[in-house]
Amino acid sequence: MAIVKIRLYGDPVLRKVSEPVTEIDDEIRDLFDGLIDTVEDAGGVGLAAPQIGVSKRVIVVVDIDEEGRRSPFLLVNPEIVSACGEQAVEEGCLSIPEIYAKVRRPQSLVVKGLDQEGREVDIEASGLSARAFAHEIDHLDGILFVDRIGMVKRSLIKRKLNEIKKQAKEMLKSLQ
Ligand SMILES: [Zn+2]
Repeated sequence: MAIVKIRLYGDPVLRKVSEPVTEIDDEIRDLFDGLIDTVEDAGGVGLAAPQIGVSKRVIVVVDIDEEGRRSPFLLVNPEIVSACGEQAVEEGCLSIPEIYAKVRRPQSLVVKGLDQEGREVDIEASGLSARAFAHEIDHLDGILFVDRIGMVKRSLIKRKLNEIKKQAKEMLKSLQ
């Protein structure tokens, strides 16, 4: 799958509820490669399958250590098991370029799912990575961070959002 064009705000695939993965087969492994290659190419902190046009419950979150080394982590059928605390930090999204807004997220959470081998895993995340997991899991339910911001901020970015929608339309035409 390699590097895939990231779908933009306005693309209907971003509003669909993604299907759970029932088997880790070649098609899903291809999706894993696509997610990792694309998030690394974009230098993002996370990406969800719908953002590359695949309506399946798979996300990648990139852990970045103090030296800036990146380790992408794939999670299949992720679910938030528990959450606590609260943080409100500026967030962005590769599908909504150049728009940033404060979003309330849990300070820490526990996520469960399957790793790329299909083994069950539990992950404890806090701070930036808790935010990334919450943001990417939202994508699997068709929720975007701009849905979680206040009315005033939303009206301020409305014009920019409409511009991105136009680009999304052009992109869809080119993909047909
Ligand atoms: Zn996003």
